[in-house]
This record gives sequence, C-alpha cells and structure tokens, in this order.
Amino acid sequence: MMTLSDLQKFAGGLKSQDKPMPVLFIGHGSPMNGIVQNEFSDTWKSVAGLLPVPQAILVVSAHWLTEGTKITAMDFPPTIHDFGGFPPALYQVKYPVPGAPDLARETVALVQSTHVGLAHEWGLDHGAWTVLRHMYPDASVPVLQLSIDYSLGAKGHYDLARELGALRKKGVLILGSGNMVHNLRLIAFDRIEENFGFDWAADMNEVFKARIDSHDHRSLIEYERLGPAARLAVPTPDHYFPLLYALGLQGRTETPYFFNDSLVAGSLTMTSVLFA
Ligand code: ZN
Repeated sequence: MMTLSDLQKFAGGLKSQDKPMPVLFIGHGSPMNGIVQNEFSDTWKSVAGLLPVPQAILVVSAHWLTEGTKITAMDFPPTIHDFGGFPPALYQVKYPVPGAPDLARETVALVQSTHVGLAHEWGLDHGAWTVLRHMYPDASVPVLQLSIDYSLGAKGHYDLARELGALRKKGVLILGSGNMVHNLRLIAFDRIEENFGFDWAADMNEVFKARIDSHDHRSLIEYERLGPAARLAVPTPDHYFPLLYALGLQGRTETPYFFNDSLVAGSLTMTSVLFA
C-alpha cells in the first residue's frame, strides 16, 4: 500500500504534461478544518504542491445533494456556509474563486448517461472550500461543483464518473470530498478533538483501504454487502458517494496513494487517496 510519502519521492512525474491530471478523494471532516492549521490541512497543502497547477477544479461534495445532477455555472460561485453552531470566524470565510461556465457546458455535453443541469443557485459549500483554501490559498484556480443526485444508486455514480475522464486530460482536477467512514450519530463528543476511532470504524478503514488498493471497485460499489460495520460506517451514502467518483475516474494502471489515514471523533475517518 503506497502513501503520499512514496509519491513525494518521485513527485516530478506528476508534473509531466502528457499524463492526465491525478484524481483525489479527500476526507474533509469538521468544517473547522477550513480555518485551523493541523496535520490534515498541512497535508492538503502538500498534495497541491505535488500536482500540476490545474486548469480548473471540479468538486463532488457530500454537501450538495439534489434531485438530478447539476453543475455550477455561475461566473463567481458564492461561498456557502452550510453548517450550524460553529464560531463566527468560520461564517466570515470567503473563498473568492472564479467559476468556469464554459467548462460547465462542456461537462454537460460529456455526460450521456443522465442529464446534467446548469445551476445558477448554490456555489461552493464547505466540502469544497474548507479543503481548497488550504490547497490553493490564492483562489486563482476556477472551481465548479457537481451535485450528487441522491436518487441515483452507487453504480450510477460510478458510471457517471467514468464519463468525466476526458476532463482529466484537459488538466481539470476532479476532487471527491466526503468521508469514507462518517456516522454523525455515533460521534464521541467527549473525544472530538482526538484521533480516536471505535473498533468498527478502524476495521472499516482497513477494509476500504484494502479494497481500494486491490482495485476492487465492485465491492466498493456494493458497499452495503460489506457487513454490519459497513452499515455503521455508511449509514447514509452522502459522504461515501464522492469516493465512487474518484474510483470511477481511476485509470487501470493508476496507483492509489493514501494520506491523512486517521480516525477522528470515534466515528469518522479522514482517510484520503490520490490516484496517479
Ligand atoms: Zn461533510
């Protein structure tokens, strides 16, 4: 199993122009990660440093669930503060990136399996900006979001992702932002600041990593068959589906590089993976 430090040894290879842009799944965790500096945000910054500078970034965030699939098509997507009960400083954050309406239209044309609608509502939710402001603090790379059609099953999301592959060749960074293990009901509120996970969360973290490492996409699409711990890890699929986008975009010969492989607050994992 490769990690980011393996990749850092030959990072020059990622900058070459003739390869498609790598694909990312990032565990975003608490919205507070958007304004604190910690091991997770430091690694997000390091990951950006390994990549070629993207032409644009397309984010599939766990926090934009819709009927049908939509893509943001505004010139300047607003920063959305889609959470409650956090300190005022978090609500004051703006991530003033441009959008990419032309690329939104190109993406609509690429997808044949479903209709993708151009959205002039929404913008960037915290699944996108809490991560991106660490990766690209100068906000110079245009960002779009693709919504998650919540009535589409796991296989549908995986197949839709495969249709987006041409964007990678155009230098678009596709980022699935969620959490592989994500059960808010079971959060250990007394240990919320700790890198601590329940046994079932630790088990599922290993299962997910092993299946990703062996390119076993089928069992990851059929995650509900992975047993009782999987049902605790993915009680609802909103934070899991972004992983399926990254998997769908993984090329046959591409290697997963894991990072931020940590359990937090009992029932979440920050475990993330770059495919290159
Ligand atoms: Zn989230």
